[in-house]
Amino acid sequence: MSITEISSAVDRLMPELIKASTAIHARPELCFEEFFAMETLADVLTSNGLRVKRGAYGTDTAFEAEFGSQFGPTVALLLEYDALPSIGHGCGHNVIAAAGLGSALALIPIANDLGLRVRVLGTPAEEGGGGKIKMARNGAFSGIDAALMIHPADRDLLRMNAIAIQELRAVYRGKAAHAASSPHEGRNALDAAVLGYNAVAALRQHIRDTERVHGIFVHGGDKPNVVPAYAETLWYVRSDTLTSLAPLRDRVASALHGGAQACGCEVELHWEEFAYAEMVDNPPLLNRYEELSRELGREPMTPSLDARVVGSTDMGNISHLVPSIHPMIAIAPPGTPLHTEDFAAAAIGESASTGIRDGAVLLANLACDLVRQGDLLGQVRASGPSPEDAFGVLFN
Ligand SMILES: [Zn+2]
Ligand SMILES: [Zn+2]
Repeated sequence: MSITEISSAVDRLMPELIKASTAIHARPELCFEEFFAMETLADVLTSNGLRVKRGAYGTDTAFEAEFGSQFGPTVALLLEYDALPSIGHGCGHNVIAAAGLGSALALIPIANDLGLRVRVLGTPAEEGGGGKIKMARNGAFSGIDAALMIHPADRDLLRMNAIAIQELRAVYRGKAAHAASSPHEGRNALDAAVLGYNAVAALRQHIRDTERVHGIFVHGGDKPNVVPAYAETLWYVRSDTLTSLAPLRDRVASALHGGAQACGCEVELHWEEFAYAEMVDNPPLLNRYEELSRELGREPMTPSLDARVVGSTDMGNISHLVPSIHPMIAIAPPGTPLHTEDFAAAAIGESASTGIRDGAVLLANLACDLVRQGDLLGQVRASGPSPEDAFGVLFN
């Protein structure tokens, strides 16, 4: 089947894809609460003849459907669908879901004859929570030869600068006292948190340009006339790789401890169980994606300093397990950042529909090429991650 034929198949599917995308966009759900999105997508797959397992791989809002040849190589199509607090689908995951759905539906009639097996995975909780990591721990990616997804952005990029990240919650405990009559009795947890925050601010001048540390105050006391006995801050600590993240984590921890020590308070640091790893794109897969993209008349760029999206994703961990790609497809005017209301608005409408359509065509073709394009599969395997990597990116 040629790229033109797959394009026509996806064109016929568009009303169904737009309907699913619109429904998910209109009802944003946060990480691990995406029951509506899961049901919406699972219903479409079921009505197209697939058996769908909801709550797959120990994750309530994950799903799985598999089809195609028993013997061929297996491609995983990853569908994200979680949203953000306040701004809904400001990361456009409804587009990821609809493009993945479209590629799956286009492959159903042809996979068996091609000798291709397809595993459709609904992967929740990308915006924190590490849904894919949890699923991977439970075997979601075993037997997978390539994992494919496509993320919307403000331009076509071959990949995202996805760096490692770990979340941290810092809990400060002091001693309450009357703030006017006996301040000397109090130990101020808010002061401790503020000094910890400022210590991190000082640290930022002496970290690599590519590293990021950002935090917010979650709790800073209850009433001004009571010395705060409890304060809480939440942090994202990011570095180029999981390896370089380790020493940065230690430095951030020291800064936060310093605030507590200065104020006679205690601090507990709770690191998120799942650290996100840096993304390692598979070169042969990415090269073929680029060729297909140009055949469609698109012009994907390699990220550069003035054209890049810096962030983190749990797809990074998957890329250390199986050959993977995470290209970005334009749905918003250049300069529209992810995680904004403007991007949420762009994730619905004509431009988003074009992104869904082309994304579905590209992923479906790439999956087919693994079995019909010379030695692409061999090259993908040869340049894939080494199995020794796996434990470190799932359990750290
Ligand atoms: Zn996001
Ligand atoms: Zn995203």
